[in-house]
Amino acid sequence: MKLDANALRYLDREDFRVLTAVEMGMRNHELVPVELVTQIASLRLGGAKKILSTLLRHKLLHHDRQHFDGYRLTSLGYDFLALRTLVARGLVMGVGRQIGVGKESDIFVVLNEDHEEFCLKLHRLGRTSFRAIKNKRDYHQHRGSPSWLYLSRLAANKELTFMRILHEHDFPVPTPIDGNRHVILMSLADGFPLNQVRNMEDPAPVYTEMMDLIERFAKHGLIHGDFNEFNVLINEKGKLTVIDFPQMVSINHPNARMYFERDVNCVRRFFRKKFNFVADMRPDFDEVLANRVADLDVKVAASGFTRKMAKDFDRFVESMASKEDQSESDESDDESDGDDGEESSADEGDDDEAGSEADVAKVDESTPKEATKEATA
Ligand code: ADP
Ligand code: MG
Repeated sequence: MKLDANALRYLDREDFRVLTAVEMGMRNHELVPVELVTQIASLRLGGAKKILSTLLRHKLLHHDRQHFDGYRLTSLGYDFLALRTLVARGLVMGVGRQIGVGKESDIFVVLNEDHEEFCLKLHRLGRTSFRAIKNKRDYHQHRGSPSWLYLSRLAANKELTFMRILHEHDFPVPTPIDGNRHVILMSLADGFPLNQVRNMEDPAPVYTEMMDLIERFAKHGLIHGDFNEFNVLINEKGKLTVIDFPQMVSINHPNARMYFERDVNCVRRFFRKKFNFVADMRPDFDEVLANRVADLDVKVAASGFTRKMAKDFDRFVESMASKEDQSESDESDDESDGDDGEESSADEGDDDEAGSEADVAKVDESTPKEATKEATA
């Protein structure tokens, strides 16, 4: 993935106005016809067409003419919209090295105006998953499937909401800074993921601290859900930082016990395999339930990540989990780059989704309306 803050400079205000117009059009159009782009951007047709071709050249848009003539954002186009907002807010000045390529995210080091380093996470829900689904026959019958824009935005929103609350309660997580669309900005954690640690002189205290963290999360009403050696970073002094929260669940989730045990067992397995370390100590789910200290799960729902959003998101995650096995074997292009926005050639955008998107917009402070303001300011 290329993500270059300099490239933002090639684009002027009107370019962004058109890009934003396509984003707005995509709320209820899979492909946005040029007339609608022109209308939303309040430009003349000739002017809009010229800008559209610039945006196409920069691969920020895709022009589809197969069944219907229209434009849609590529993931790079969506990245640019979010990045430009963070630049406009004075939070990001430059994009540095890429430090992570997850299945569903890209992670970059970015710099602010004082040359301090931060971490930018771009959510890419649907990068692999939509490709996985698009070959499934039932997909096209499944009207109302949320688009990759909406899902990536939900994931970012969820992650930022959880990170803020965990940070407020002194959990060892990165400091959340800001978010926009599918992107979150946070402090750069010191250290490396545990999986990169070759050997550990004394694994016992690290193991204990990880078990204590699982227990503390749960006593606060939460289960990480992906608590493993990839999502716990350790620095030279042995300080831990937990990352990656889009899959966190409430202790009141019907499968809470299973998620809890899975987190515990992941850590135990890792320590046994990697450091040949086995301990008796493990937190007990029932004991945790009996000793709750806070309901952060409830707090999360009250502070932005609404029940409706959670439901949309969980439905997607669950449908992915059940399809994972089938799709793994028949998807050969999963690894390819998403820059061309190919993932959205799956049948996305839908009227049902427009309402949900508006929900996110409210809490995300990035309603297309505001974005247009930014773009036209
Ligand atoms: P994914 O959901 O794709 O697994 P993660 O949030 O786990 O994304 O991030 C992927 C990788 O990026 C991590 O394993 C870690 O190496 C790096 N990373 C993510 N967030 C940070 C951070 N705040 N500070 C330092 N490194 C980070
Ligand atoms: Mg991760």
